[in-house]
Amino acid sequence: MKLIFLGPPGAGKGTQATGVSSHLGVPHISTGDMFRAALKNQTPTGIEAKRYMDAGELVPDSVVVAMVKERLAMPDCANGYLLDGFPRTVEQAKALDEISAPDAVIDIHVGDERLLARLTGRRVCGKCNGTFHISSLADANVCPVCGDALYQREDDKPATISNRLKVYRAQTEPLVGYYEGLGKLRRVDCESLPVVGNDCRREDVFQAILKALE
Ligand code: ADP
Ligand code: ZN
Repeated sequence: MKLIFLGPPGAGKGTQATGVSSHLGVPHISTGDMFRAALKNQTPTGIEAKRYMDAGELVPDSVVVAMVKERLAMPDCANGYLLDGFPRTVEQAKALDEISAPDAVIDIHVGDERLLARLTGRRVCGKCNGTFHISSLADANVCPVCGDALYQREDDKPATISNRLKVYRAQTEPLVGYYEGLGKLRRVDCESLPVVGNDCRREDVFQAILKALE
């Protein structure tokens, strides 16, 4: 099974990709996580990516495509993959079609108002990579899973968020039409799911994704 998760920042791609990839037994490949890991290790790719990431801009296609191509050649991708955050441009999608074309693309739809609330309240753990929302945390600074310190991603600061959404609309949203044309698009609409507290439930989104994949 070769899958892509498409959707704006804050749509919950990362969270859902983790659950769906273990359910299907295919590796979860997040280009954002790969860049953050590369930066932590101070590799040339990580250092180059940083200035784009901090500004909410896309890293150049050539850099991303080379990184993904190398990753997809690893043995754990023999039975498929779940790509999260890639492709983000039509150029990247065309490159992926040459490397290893996806079977299906899940388009996760979340309205702007909810995206903003999620992104500004998002906190991440540097140790276990968990992602949380302040509304569900007893202490906004402590990871409820491993107890390590939580932090706010540099690109989750308000000024950068609006640019990321703009970049998404301009550069990534055209992929919806691209994959629709290929008959591979499956839409999951989070706005149509029941609201519990102030958002839809992760479990309901998970089930909606599995259903879309049937
Ligand atoms: P988001 O929460 O916006 O989906 P990600 O963790 O997927 O964030 O990505 C963070 C940043 O990494 C992006 O804003 C961008 O700078 C860079 N990046 C990740 N994937 C790609 C990609 N496929 N093409 C270009 N840049 C990317
Ligand atoms: Zn943690």
